[in-house]
Amino acid sequence: MKPFSNFQVSSSSKNKNLASRRSFITSAGLIAGTAALTGMIPGCSPAVETPKIWKDMPLILRFRPYELQLRHVFTLAGSSRTTTADILTELEWNGIIGYGEASLPPYLVETQDSVSQFLSGLDFSRFNNPLFIENIMDYVDGVAAGNHAAKASIDIALHDLAGKVLGQPWHRMWGLNPADTPPTSFTIGIDTPEVVRQKTADAAGFSVLKIKLGRGNDKEMIEAVRAVTSVPLFVDVNQGWTDRQEALELCQWLAEKGVVFVEQPMDKTRKEDIAWLTARSPLPIIADEAVQTFDDVLLCHGVYSGINIKLMKCGGLRAARKMIALARALGMKVMIGCMTETSCAVSAAAQLSPLVDWADLDGNLLISNDLFEGMTVIEGKVTLSDRPGIGVVPL
Ligand code: MG
Repeated sequence: MKPFSNFQVSSSSKNKNLASRRSFITSAGLIAGTAALTGMIPGCSPAVETPKIWKDMPLILRFRPYELQLRHVFTLAGSSRTTTADILTELEWNGIIGYGEASLPPYLVETQDSVSQFLSGLDFSRFNNPLFIENIMDYVDGVAAGNHAAKASIDIALHDLAGKVLGQPWHRMWGLNPADTPPTSFTIGIDTPEVVRQKTADAAGFSVLKIKLGRGNDKEMIEAVRAVTSVPLFVDVNQGWTDRQEALELCQWLAEKGVVFVEQPMDKTRKEDIAWLTARSPLPIIADEAVQTFDDVLLCHGVYSGINIKLMKCGGLRAARKMIALARALGMKVMIGCMTETSCAVSAAAQLSPLVDWADLDGNLLISNDLFEGMTVIEGKVTLSDRPGIGVVPL
């Protein structure tokens, strides 16, 4: 669907809005230039329809609760569940709608009530231009500390909206080559060997698998997977290991089993033990629970080999890009992950994936009631759509 297909222009409003149009076009000077260029670039979509006029109007925020239904019982080192709470957001401007969401797994502190409360307190009447993402997100960040998933739901919708206004996907505006996207892993939760073998067989289309460990049956889990496939494995312990010497021995064993890295092996508060393990492990040790926001990246340096960035933890694409830049400056590995979420948030994260070493962007595939069509997985690889913004359309 063309982003401006619903955009109605009336001749009577033309003069009335000329001044605001001039100021908007000044700030959005990319529109004409980008439209002219895209028609000449191989692999890029033709120029989008250039808007005739923009009304000077505030951004409108809408949101509603949603419950994600998981395809399988999802068992981690510390919990099991069949649903994930979610809040869907929309930011509208000049008839164009940007989509966002906040996924709220129970181990994070935010809830549908807390996100609704945060979003209800936002006043977007002060913003008449969705392209000023820095100004708008500075305001959103300043309303209250924390609330990262709530902030991500705004950040994602805002990027989607601004990208649609400019007629381009964000990976292109960031100068990223869609051919550089990594494969995404598909997650296999903790279960009996029989179920793990079946889940592994069902995931035959993926070139990397992420295996959840940390409940005492680690070797049994890996052996069950290896009975079915020889693809590289990511391992996520979700803080489940307690003894650092045993952790090291397991890392050595896992390295012989074709494992690529180990994510969050022990409780995030045990920094000294994790640094000890990282210094000795043949596999990179990646922080997940230990890294939420930009400030945590510095704290992980010297403790972990790399970080797992998730939009719901850090507050969205703006924050994630800054974290990637800092981690790279510190010589750290970077992974981009997700919660169980719809294709909306997964597709937003996928826009950044050409910048990372590893991707775990399967959250939309773990639910049975997705609401969007967006990024896809083709032969195991993250495949970005050519649509503007974060690249999604409602189903
Ligand atoms: Mg993890």
